[in-house]
Amino acid sequence: MRDRESAAEPLPYAEVTDEGYATRVAETFSVRRYGPAVLLSGDCPRCQHPISCPIVGEVFRRVASQASVELGYRTLLCSCAAEHPDRPDGLAGCGAYWTVTLEVES
Ligand SMILES: [Zn+2]
Repeated sequence: MRDRESAAEPLPYAEVTDEGYATRVAETFSVRRYGPAVLLSGDCPRCQHPISCPIVGEVFRRVASQASVELGYRTLLCSCAAEHPDRPDGLAGCGAYWTVTLEVES
């Protein structure tokens, strides 16, 4: 589901979410452990720019693609470094957000 904005013109900032975002993140993001935190890395499901989302708290094993035993939920926000027109000062990313489900390491 790529939009026309994958062409040259930059995607305008918009605070939006979509069911497909979380699905794509579960399929494509990598999860790396850094001590008590995990770092989710991949391409933003809206603007396609690379982003990294540190998550601190419980110890997560991976992004779950479906519900299983013990899960954590986090809402992530695009934090890419690319320019997006109409973005408020002081913010990063394209405005996209989504909720990921994470398997908790037992
Ligand atoms: Zn984005």
